Amino acid sequence: MSHPRIALITGANKGIGYETARQLAAEGVHVLIGARSADRGEAAAQVLRTEGFAAGFVHVDLEDPSTFAAAAAQIQAEHGRLDILINNAAILEDEIGCSVEATTMDLWRRTFEINLFAQIELTNALLPLIRASEAGRIVNLSSIVSCMTYHADPKSPIYGAVRPAYDVSKAAVNAWTVHLAYDLRKTPVKVNAVHPGWVKTDMGGEEAPMEIVDGARTSVMMALVGPDGPTGTLSHLGEPLPW
Ligand code: NDP
Repeated sequence: MSHPRIALITGANKGIGYETARQLAAEGVHVLIGARSADRGEAAAQVLRTEGFAAGFVHVDLEDPSTFAAAAAQIQAEHGRLDILINNAAILEDEIGCSVEATTMDLWRRTFEINLFAQIELTNALLPLIRASEAGRIVNLSSIVSCMTYHADPKSPIYGAVRPAYDVSKAAVNAWTVHLAYDLRKTPVKVNAVHPGWVKTDMGGEEAPMEIVDGARTSVMMALVGPDGPTGTLSHLGEPLPW
């Protein structure tokens, strides 16, 4: 591609999303910082611009679907297409080890609204712009705790790492990823889910073994896959994970 690629990363004001934006910007991508707070989003974009990168802000609040159409309109007006969408923002509000029975229906619904339904609705709103790209890429942030193969195996290290609403929402993200990849199989668009690793962020916590700089690598890798790259997969640092 002769022109700089345009990427929207949701939840990019901090954590893995911000670092993903920074690493993509360092690859020459024009990054759009998706954030629900204009102050935090603008501030993050400003830091990247100060470092000499091409960066802007787009208001994306996963709890406010009216921001999805507005984001699409803004990107259409400013760039006319979207080359990379990274569905990074998500919530984790379960207590570790909470049972399915004790997980409130409010938490199930809230988690699915933000971690699944909003991702689908935002992506649908942006698909015309992604189809307008020569080589659209969609990266959905999943997690190793989405893997039913591991949760069903008593010998797996994540067997007891249970947060029902979050885990099941991410398993649903995987299933959606596969269906969207199928829909787009005859186009250049590639759709993949990633596990970033257990990363030291506000969500991952201080005890996480992985630094943010490494936690962004899988998203960046899948955002930049070439025309022969995979679609409809779940991976971590280039290694496939079981569903
Ligand atoms: P953080 O909690 O550090 O950051 C989450 C980002 O999502 C923030 O920018 C936050 O914005 C944004 N966000 C939350 N709710 C909304 C909303 N309603 N609308 C828009 N944005 C919202 O998380 P991480 O960086 O750790 O996680 C990034 C992704 O990686 C997530 O999908 C997570 O599930 C996944 N992941 C993380 C792991 C880890 O160990 N950290 C492990 C496996 C997967 P604000 O600042 O306004 O709150």
